[in-house]
Amino acid sequence: MSFITSFPAKWEGICMRYPPGWIEGVGSALVQVFGFIIPGLVFLAIDMLKPVAFDKRKIQQESKQPSKRQMISCLKLVFGNQAYLIGSHFLLLHFLKYKFSIFRMDPQLPSILEVVVQCTVGALLREVLFYYVHRLMHTKMLYRKVHRVHHEFRAPVALAAIYSHTLDHILVNAMPIYLPMAIQRAHFLTLMLFAGVAVFDAAVSHSGYHLFRVPDVQSHDVHHEKGNVNFGVLGLMDWLHGTNA
Ligand SMILES: [Zn+2]
Ligand SMILES: [Zn+2]
Repeated sequence: MSFITSFPAKWEGICMRYPPGWIEGVGSALVQVFGFIIPGLVFLAIDMLKPVAFDKRKIQQESKQPSKRQMISCLKLVFGNQAYLIGSHFLLLHFLKYKFSIFRMDPQLPSILEVVVQCTVGALLREVLFYYVHRLMHTKMLYRKVHRVHHEFRAPVALAAIYSHTLDHILVNAMPIYLPMAIQRAHFLTLMLFAGVAVFDAAVSHSGYHLFRVPDVQSHDVHHEKGNVNFGVLGLMDWLHGTNA
């Protein structure tokens, strides 16, 4: 039996065996590991080994790339932020005795239509939330006290997607992914898919490489280079407010 055909029975077994809060905590941590940390480390290896095939795809010049010292402080802060978020999530779930999840922990898989509708609504809500909270972070006081850290990388690298003040990481990175799916009471597997794609996209759009012809890769790189354009994820809100470049 292949993984795909046996998956519904496996998922049902997981729901029967473990409490909802435990599945939420472990599933969310797995999304971070497979969607962000592993791809981020692959990009780090590419940055260090500099294979010729990737040379032509680098968006900004070599002289603007981060130094070794910046990369080491990036690794420290990134793993610190991950540990903080995963740790505090587990602490909260532990406090609730793992009895509850804000997502639907249904042993039945969601239908394709439900996944498509909730992910589309989620992506649009995320675009609105990310744009306004991110723009707010560019106001004088919040930029100086919070968001400045994320902009230390003028030419970003994949892991630098969460090189941020912890408040920035919670409000700009995590909240616009989880809140739109929580208010739709999405199936937990839909949340895992949505969050997995979102964190993978964050790694790719900070990688500094123009890959897969994805338009927003270049767009977020320009945000780091210029600082006052391209605040959104999809480009919709930037188009609406005339902040696209
Ligand atoms: Zn910014
Ligand atoms: Zn960024």
